[in-house]
Amino acid sequence: MHRVFSGIQPSGELHLGNYVGAVKNWVALQAEFECVYSIVDLHAITQPYDPAVLAARTLEMAVGLLAAGLDPSRCTLFVQSHVPQHAELMWVLNTVTPLGHLERMTQFKDKAARQESVPAGLLNYPVLQAADILLYRADRVPVGEDQLQHLELAREIAHKFNLRFGEGFFPEPEPILSTTKRVLGLDGQAKMSKSLGNTIGLLESPEEIWAKLRPAMTDPARKTRKDPGDPDVCNIFTIHKAFSSSEQVAHVDRQCRTAGWGCLECKRLLADNMIAALAPVRERAAEWRARPERVREVLGDGAARCRALAEATMVEVRRVLGLASW
Ligand code: ATP
Ligand code: MG
Repeated sequence: MHRVFSGIQPSGELHLGNYVGAVKNWVALQAEFECVYSIVDLHAITQPYDPAVLAARTLEMAVGLLAAGLDPSRCTLFVQSHVPQHAELMWVLNTVTPLGHLERMTQFKDKAARQESVPAGLLNYPVLQAADILLYRADRVPVGEDQLQHLELAREIAHKFNLRFGEGFFPEPEPILSTTKRVLGLDGQAKMSKSLGNTIGLLESPEEIWAKLRPAMTDPARKTRKDPGDPDVCNIFTIHKAFSSSEQVAHVDRQCRTAGWGCLECKRLLADNMIAALAPVRERAAEWRARPERVREVLGDGAARCRALAEATMVEVRRVLGLASW
């Protein structure tokens, strides 16, 4: 049976891109596989952040994930920093990771360009990610498209470790992508990202959703209502695929290409479907938020379980590395 691992940073609010790109799959996979999901706070500190709010954001991310449908009786949810073996394995994996590969990572180049002084942690981010996955010997990783390059590197790191220290020691993990693997931000410029402020939050009110969706970028070539559009380059059409029925998606496609609908009509249908789909998520979020001690208990149980799994792997890792065990 496959073991699934994935993580999300508490670097801002859980947004639509996270949900349709990754978290919806996390929820679905619980029914089939053993799933381990992490709120990766050690990754989040590689970007500028406020220490005074990190713990609150971590808790709020847990609320969002539980509201989205993670079920603590069917998956393991924990906070990365509560399992110190992640950082330990990362150090080990650093020793088999080629520096040149890290320097070529698109996310590193993008995020480094936005920081005045680039911390080494930003460069080593994908090594920590590889450690997250390999610590649990997970072989399936549900992510958005932006993480494919990191996952390819994780496979390579596993491969290099295995060559050096023992064939088959770590599995080479494969991605699981959704049909909406890349959602753009509302400005249509870059991918929707917590750190770019171009998001629709999963837990926003119907009014907020409409206020953000209404002016959002569509097919840039569609300048007037009479111009036919190309749904294949429209971010709103991408999001339709996650929230609208296949008949509605086909209808939207036709109406766009023939200029039968203006963008606003298309967005209104999407907003209605999104609001309906997300209403129960908002309700569940309010319930979890009212019981923070229960959320912390879920995370505590998850961390205890993960520490045991992680330590079992690390005992083996230390052994094959030849570290003194006396
Ligand atoms: P940050 O800007 O801090 O990197 P983020 O919004 O990119 O935050 P992450 O925590 O880095 O979110 O990623 C969590 C998961 O969400 C990953 O699997 C990632 O691939 C997925 N994801 C993030 N943004 C998008 C997007 N715009 N479309 C599809 N999937 C996405
Ligand atoms: Mg990201």
